[in-house]
Amino acid sequence: MSQTRCGEEIPRGTVLEDRVMAPGSHWASIVPQGAVLRIVDLEGKQAVDFLCYAAKDPSERYNAADTMKYAGTIFVTKGHSLYSDMGRALYTIVEDTCGRHDTIGGACSAESNHFRYGVKNTPNCRDNFLRGLEEFGLGKKDIVANLNLFMNVPVRSDGKMGLTDGLSVPGDYVDLRAEIDVLTVISNCPQTRNPCNGFDPTPVQLIVWQPLAPEESA
Ligand SMILES: [Zn+2]
Repeated sequence: MSQTRCGEEIPRGTVLEDRVMAPGSHWASIVPQGAVLRIVDLEGKQAVDFLCYAAKDPSERYNAADTMKYAGTIFVTKGHSLYSDMGRALYTIVEDTCGRHDTIGGACSAESNHFRYGVKNTPNCRDNFLRGLEEFGLGKKDIVANLNLFMNVPVRSDGKMGLTDGLSVPGDYVDLRAEIDVLTVISNCPQTRNPCNGFDPTPVQLIVWQPLAPEESA
């Protein structure tokens, strides 16, 4: 039985990956169909930038607009799926103890940090995405609007959007079940110039497991 660093047990199954991602680090891997990817916000208020693609043909990839349209909300949570541009679910959110993630704010980049904060060459999620994508022969053309787990971008009724402190507390987690084999690229956001990480980027834990088939767990 595996546990998260916060003591939460994961359901029975075969653990394929269990690692702590330091702030500013990236991870890219193919999560096989049926496996569950858990991302644990170990200390709270930590944005985790997330992109995913059909592993067999990565020209099919996460589509933020369709995901929001099918969910009927910009705030995806348990029960919603992350859809590809081909109308297929790549992942389904099967557990979510936080309940607030961002679908519209996008990833930080060196260029946007320069534009917004006047600082050059900052560590950023876009470069992390590129590092991860490169491992699979992909590049700039493959970066699309991404999901930000545990990031809080509220939108007011007048359309004004904020970028405010995350609502996650230490140990909050999201479980994503892969609906097909999914190439997944994650950046543990290094941003220090806005509240998306509480101005203090912290580690997250990532666990991938293949649940036991029902007859095996009986
Ligand atoms: Zn970032």
